[in-house]
Amino acid sequence: MEIQSVAVLGSGTMGAGIAQVCAQLGCEVALCDISEEVAERGLAGIGRFLASGVERGKVTPRKRAATLALIRATEDVAGAVQNVQLVVEAAPEELALKRDIFVRVADAAPENALLATNTSSIPISKIAEGNHAAGRIVGMHFFNPVPLMKLLELVVGEQTTPETTASARAFGERLGKEVITVRDTPGFASSRLGICIAMEAIRMVEQEVASPTDIDRAMVFGYGFPMGPLRLTDLVGLDVRMAIADHLAEALDAPEFTPPALLRRMVAEGRLGKKSGHGFYDWEA
Ligand code: NAD
Repeated sequence: MEIQSVAVLGSGTMGAGIAQVCAQLGCEVALCDISEEVAERGLAGIGRFLASGVERGKVTPRKRAATLALIRATEDVAGAVQNVQLVVEAAPEELALKRDIFVRVADAAPENALLATNTSSIPISKIAEGNHAAGRIVGMHFFNPVPLMKLLELVVGEQTTPETTASARAFGERLGKEVITVRDTPGFASSRLGICIAMEAIRMVEQEVASPTDIDRAMVFGYGFPMGPLRLTDLVGLDVRMAIADHLAEALDAPEFTPPALLRRMVAEGRLGKKSGHGFYDWEA
């Protein structure tokens, strides 16, 4: 089954990006949100993203127009999923909300449609628990910004069938992504490794092993990372990374994820990274 038609549920940061890459591939996309107005806002954002691509010579005006013409904004979930081969859910990170969405989607979407969630931390098996379409539910964890980031992490739930995983992989490859397959475990592969490195880097700052800049440079110039773990923590937000680390320390029962005292102190002081002006680096001016 070649996927030609997609419904994306949630038109925020991730949903808009996912809708864009699907439309760029030539798929028809229904972009769905809690109201048509919100969904239209998501669509307008895609228009701006593509317009900046045109300015930079990365996208032709024709491709921009063709991509936008394939996306329609809607608030009607049942209608949006009715005739599609793939549904990607990109609603807020709340288990109850996602479970509810998948119950509704399982009833309204075609019987062979692939049902994917873009969750970054909730176990797929929990979202799919008790759902009559559990075998067709899979994690498709895209990265922000979706049109630029190459990784697609497929998360295989306890009930996800091999056919579902194979179809999701084939679609990810059509999107030009580097697809990895991960068992449904806390932090999947990407967060588990990324957070572990970040916590160790923060512990090294705490122990005055080297300056933040030099710790980052170790990974950039020694290991080819595009950006060091401390700079990335500043960009993502220290509070966000601390919450994930706390969650992983408990879920994996692994002390290496426990946030160092320095991180807790910085968060308590409001030094949250770029968004507050200060983190491991100064971002003001
Ligand atoms: P967001 O807040 O930008 O967008 C979520 C959208 O979902 C909002 O527009 C909201 O109105 C809409 N929504 C709420 N309830 C809905 C419903 N019942 N049906 C349809 N739409 C609904 O969030 P985001 O950053 O795009 O994140 C979405 C998901 O992707 C989350 O699960 C998040 O963990 C995951 N994720 C985020 C990132 C990231 O960097 N932001 C990266 C990977 C994965």
